[in-house]
Amino acid sequence: MTTAEIQALNEAHVINTYGARNIAMVRGDGMRLWDADGREYLDFFAGIAVVNLGHCPATVTEAIAEQARTLVHVSNLYYIEPQVKLAALLCEHTFADQWFFCNSGAESVEAAIKLTRRYWAKKGTPKPIILSANQSFHGRTIGAVTVTGQPKYHEGFEPMLPDVGKFDYGDMKSLEAAVTDKVGGILLEPIQGEGGVVIPPSGYLEAVRKLCDHRGILLIFDEVQTGLGRTGSLFAHTQHGIAPDIMTVAKGLGNGIPIGALGCTAGAATGFSVGSHASTFGGNPLSSAAALATLTALTKPGFIETAAEVGEYFAAGLRALGEEFDTIADVRSKGLMIGMEMRKPAGPLVNAMIESGVICGPAGPNVLRFLPPLIVSKEDVDTVLPKLETALEIF
Ligand code: PLP
Repeated sequence: MTTAEIQALNEAHVINTYGARNIAMVRGDGMRLWDADGREYLDFFAGIAVVNLGHCPATVTEAIAEQARTLVHVSNLYYIEPQVKLAALLCEHTFADQWFFCNSGAESVEAAIKLTRRYWAKKGTPKPIILSANQSFHGRTIGAVTVTGQPKYHEGFEPMLPDVGKFDYGDMKSLEAAVTDKVGGILLEPIQGEGGVVIPPSGYLEAVRKLCDHRGILLIFDEVQTGLGRTGSLFAHTQHGIAPDIMTVAKGLGNGIPIGALGCTAGAATGFSVGSHASTFGGNPLSSAAALATLTALTKPGFIETAAEVGEYFAAGLRALGEEFDTIADVRSKGLMIGMEMRKPAGPLVNAMIESGVICGPAGPNVLRFLPPLIVSKEDVDTVLPKLETALEIF
């Protein structure tokens, strides 16, 4: 089909929640994508931090194909071999003792809210309030969107979930002021992604951990976007020498096969018991096999470190452009999670980059965001920087 044919069907039959998209990607390989009209693109967005191993990597494709020939789906009423292997490998590489599997980031956040509330309820000391940060993003189900600190995503969906409070990200005083004896969980992203690639001040996450310990509150890190090698370590929080009680994961876990997960300490896991939470597809054989192959590749020694080096190289190039162009207000980066804040809306710049054959995206109104697959090379960066320079000249 041509782009025009795909567009016509889309306009007739798909509810338009994503706005105008005049490109249809039909094939991917490594760092590259091709559209329905045969045009090639360099992908510096990875399907919003999803295909961390690039498009259609052989190891994951083989694992999917093999599992598809063997057993695609069976319910969680039976043990699922790829799922238990995945859980064990996740435990080996994280603080978590146990895992619950679902299908998306929002569902993992939803599970975290439910686990936190039930944990305290089961203890006989209900603490229903969950605190989350202003400008945060946690997904679109009613629970996840309530904890999302951007009112524009709430409009028309009220009433929101009760007992959710907000604090200013990066500001300990604001958080302390929001804490009461009824707060059972504090939820935050180690780096805010959709909110504009916002990196908290040094020592902030450690101070939040201390506050949670002191006040008897479960700390929940949403690593849906920062996780799976994106920021220079498998999960971003490990760079701070701390661990949460609960962590939400999705996006890059299956390298594009939908899967979400919640990992937690053995203590926190006691909040759930038989029948308290479930998902028909969560951790089914196909998605678990894809995630197992993905995690195995991501945790190969040196892989994430090399990716982070390319991230540094890219960020240095962007900072150099910042010296040249007044319109660049700031460059914020950790590994391959990179935001370039502009002094005006970044939408036209995103469009100009796509026009030049480079896929990137926005984060908030003014930030140009780059989330390339972790297989990106310095040569790829050297291809993108001059295109960005050209785009900036007319921005
Ligand atoms: N949490 C964070 C930090 C995210 O960035 C996102 C999506 O961008 C979500 C949760 C929601 O994930 P999903 O779109 O898979 O529901």
